[in-house]
Amino acid sequence: MPQPPIERLLSQVRYDGGCWTFTGPARNQYGYGGVGKRLAHRLSYEALVGPVPAGLDLDHLCRNRRCVNPLHLEPVTRKENLRRGESGEAGAEFQRRKTHCPHGHSLAPGNLDAWSLKVGKRNCLTCRRARHTARRR
Ligand SMILES: [Zn+2]
Ligand SMILES: [Zn+2]
Repeated sequence: MPQPPIERLLSQVRYDGGCWTFTGPARNQYGYGGVGKRLAHRLSYEALVGPVPAGLDLDHLCRNRRCVNPLHLEPVTRKENLRRGESGEAGAEFQRRKTHCPHGHSLAPGNLDAWSLKVGKRNCLTCRRARHTARRR
């Protein structure tokens, strides 16, 4: 019996902190991974969460195009997806609306990295401290 695509997908994943980085072949010129004819991140979302609403794209909240962790994927309109990728006002608005970091920590006021706030971003302080500790070891 052929292996279901989601199992083939998960057998080619490297767990990178919170990201599930797909290590299989690239499917298109944008660098997204693929399993058979399917885009890896889309397949993962549909198998583990549910169907992506018609007409919507999956946006990578973690900005890692090879990531197939469904918690890092959010269905958005193509327009919104493109907007988020841009810098400037649209990017700033996305930063303001973020509620959780890609590792699932709440971006409440006490958990915001002060340095990132200065440059208009809202990055997770817990993650920054964890990276800092990892470097010192
Ligand atoms: Zn990710
Ligand atoms: Zn975090």
